[in-house]
Amino acid sequence: MLHDATQHEELGAEPWDEGRVRAAIRQIVAETEEAFDPDLWWPLHPSDEDGTAFDLYATHALYVGAAGVLWALHRLATADVVQLSHDYTSAAARLHEDYLRHTGGEAPAVPGLWAGEAGVLLVADLLAPDPRRRARLDAVIRENARNVTRELMWGSPGTMLAAAEMHARTGDERWRDAWAESADWLWDEWRLDDELGCFLWTQQLYGKIATYLGPAHGFAGNVLALARLVTAERRDLLAERATDTIRRLAFREDGLANWGPVAGSALEVPGQGIRVQWCHGAPGIVTSLATLPSEPELDGLLVAGGELTWAAGPHGKGQGLCHGTAGNGYAFLALYAARGIRSGSSGHGHSQLTRSHRSSPSASDMGAAGSRCGRAISGPQCSRSSASTGSRDSLRSTRGDGPGSVRRGARAGTGEEAALGCARRACERVPPARAGGCPQDSCGACVRGGDPR
Ligand SMILES: [Zn+2]
Repeated sequence: MLHDATQHEELGAEPWDEGRVRAAIRQIVAETEEAFDPDLWWPLHPSDEDGTAFDLYATHALYVGAAGVLWALHRLATADVVQLSHDYTSAAARLHEDYLRHTGGEAPAVPGLWAGEAGVLLVADLLAPDPRRRARLDAVIRENARNVTRELMWGSPGTMLAAAEMHARTGDERWRDAWAESADWLWDEWRLDDELGCFLWTQQLYGKIATYLGPAHGFAGNVLALARLVTAERRDLLAERATDTIRRLAFREDGLANWGPVAGSALEVPGQGIRVQWCHGAPGIVTSLATLPSEPELDGLLVAGGELTWAAGPHGKGQGLCHGTAGNGYAFLALYAARGIRSGSSGHGHSQLTRSHRSSPSASDMGAAGSRCGRAISGPQCSRSSASTGSRDSLRSTRGDGPGSVRRGARAGTGEEAALGCARRACERVPPARAGGCPQDSCGACVRGGDPR
């Protein structure tokens, strides 16, 4: 068995209803806009409260904070899915300054995409372009080039995506240069694992050394970042190595495929079960490697991963992209956008991915391609994805006396002190200091939190 049925929901019989989904999106956006506070940004969803003192990365950053919310609102508005009731330009313009104002202690400024300056600056630039912020984004991308986490969330693959996005937005070649500086180092760090016989990256992350496969923390995200602006001389080798790695490490049964979270380890992790989600498992592998050129062996693996994702059904962990139904639906959208492969019911409860001859799907087609997700998006759990009064109060209660004052834990100190704490085994939940900032051998242990669920 390649998935754990207890981690997924039963598929419903309701057909895709675009109107229902659009109405649900409008409702979520309306609640999100209502929850905006100019001083406190947005309240944390209770599921994002991890009980630590590191709420700065959640209140301001891209992964679960204000930068992510601002991007989502902007994206939905520019796609004409919703009409916003507020103009968030000024909010976006001051987000980075506010982020820096709160940094220090256990939450120092870090360069990364998901939890650091790059993500904040990338979103700010989208709504409120500014030459000084662009210069700072260029600097943090370069500063992060040799981050020993070697993964998307904190490391250079994430800041490479920021550089590639800026290149796409502006056409300015300085972003390609910034991307290439990180790419050259990351490419050299991609090593042949003698035991497994394939090329992998090693992460120094959360106090551990591991070889993660999923896009959040390892291989798939690194391939995704390298594919964005890859040079002609590396293009074929990138695809060959990546395909060989997922072929060797795939768990396959009856036309389905899944991948464990760590190279060479079992598919099932004690206490975690078998994961079929974007950050760990087939959906993230499929989504990331679908950006590579079409090739029969690679396409066969991606379809097998898509079939497994489809067979597993909506994710019981909720609606999120990282470890939820939206992330699994993202795999279907990626297969359709890159390969013209549609998902659809066979009418007998079986999975079925079929190849379409269309290469340029419309927005409504993209919705249909992910129709299995529609039920979950518009289902009763969707109310959990919008802010609640309860979580707002919870956030306020953690913030001390004044607006915007960030809660500090017992180990508060300067960023450098936090990094120094690594040697004292005190910093396992502290983000990486600025690149090269860990004076204790750059062990990479000084990173917040734990593995995405
Ligand atoms: Zn996750």
